[in-house]
Amino acid sequence: MTAQPDQNSTQRTAIVTGAARGIGAAVARRLATDGMAVAVLDLDEAACQSVVDEITGAGGRALAVAVDVSDEAAVTAAVERVATELGAPTVLVNNAGIIRDNMLFKMSVDDWDSVMGVHLRGSFLMTRAAQRYMTEAKYGRIVNLSSTSALGNRGQANYAAAKAGMQGFTKTLALELGKFGVTANAIAPGFIATDMTKATAARMGITFEEFLEGAAKQIPVGRAGQPEDIAATASWLCAEESGFVSGQVIYVAGGPRD
Ligand code: NAP
Repeated sequence: MTAQPDQNSTQRTAIVTGAARGIGAAVARRLATDGMAVAVLDLDEAACQSVVDEITGAGGRALAVAVDVSDEAAVTAAVERVATELGAPTVLVNNAGIIRDNMLFKMSVDDWDSVMGVHLRGSFLMTRAAQRYMTEAKYGRIVNLSSTSALGNRGQANYAAAKAGMQGFTKTLALELGKFGVTANAIAPGFIATDMTKATAARMGITFEEFLEGAAKQIPVGRAGQPEDIAATASWLCAEESGFVSGQVIYVAGGPRD
């Protein structure tokens, strides 16, 4: 759809990266339900359209924008487009992510650089581009996706380092941007049923059902997480009422994992 900026609106505009599917799509839908206009960003604009259609079909405002979050020029253009077509973004969820798992001795430099590029460089570029709208508005909510893998996970030296890095990045944003009314927090999910965990099951040579069953046995609440579990946490962290919570890492893992 062609979104129209509403200059008189007090509606907040949120950007969610990697929002064509999985956790990002659930967060985008949830923030729209919460009353925000939502920019649905992902590599492929067409892939974002079904999430945008769902939001607009329910009476909300949304915009699909193609961007590779690790590309500086593309990020600048995407954030400017959101501001022009949807409204100044004052909520940002850095969710886009990839895995390139391998044991350290088999991990290529490309596996390392790709994961750092999407998670760390991508979140840095998106946040740097969006923060000026937040500091101008004297209001902002930034949520970064970390992971329980930040605590260390076999076969994920690259991903674990990136997700631990997201925590340090988040805490520093909280320190630098707090005086502008901007909070920054991280969500560290445990096992969530998405295409990402489906790909892990396939690599392990087991069915997704077997993987889910095995995971549920290890998780104190006795089930795998769903994208909506993360969306609910993001919703609260992006709400006005959470303004005194900043620099925190919330493990959403069905049990204590930090
Ligand atoms: P997912 O289903 O694989 O979705 C990730 C999305 O990010 C995809 O739509 C993907 O696009 C997009 N993306 C990848 N690289 C991108 C780039 N350079 N620029 C823009 N978008 C890009 O993953 P998910 O399970 O929902 O995970 C979402 C976030 O939660 C990730 O940061 C992940 O690390 C984190 N997380 C997930 C779990 C879990 O158990 N699922 C646990 C802890 C943390 P394409 O489809 O085009 O590749």
